[in-house]
Amino acid sequence: MICVICKQAELQEGTGSSLFERGRMTLVIKDIPKLICPNSGEEYTDEETTDRLLQIAEEAEKSGVLTDVRQYKAAWQAEFLLAPSACRAMTLILPGSKMRANALSKH
Ligand SMILES: [Zn+2]
Repeated sequence: MICVICKQAELQEGTGSSLFERGRMTLVIKDIPKLICPNSGEEYTDEETTDRLLQIAEEAEKSGVLTDVRQYKAAWQAEFLLAPSACRAMTLILPGSKMRANALSKH
């Protein structure tokens, strides 16, 4: 995929950080899988990862976090342990759509 910002380079797989500010909370999530443009440095996050990041930010805000730095993978694993509904956690944690469908059909 060619970078849509500079249209100069092919995106490369890598990891990066994102900053979430909501109300009084500032949350940094690190080691997020991203596609990165080697030319402009633009970072792209896929839809599924974005959904998961928003979930992590939402949970952090609900639990009263003010400032925190989390590792992407550790954050969604922690959410799996804390989530009130195992079914919901499964849909969050499983990356493949096929596995997601299986997890849902069990409940
Ligand atoms: Zn670019």
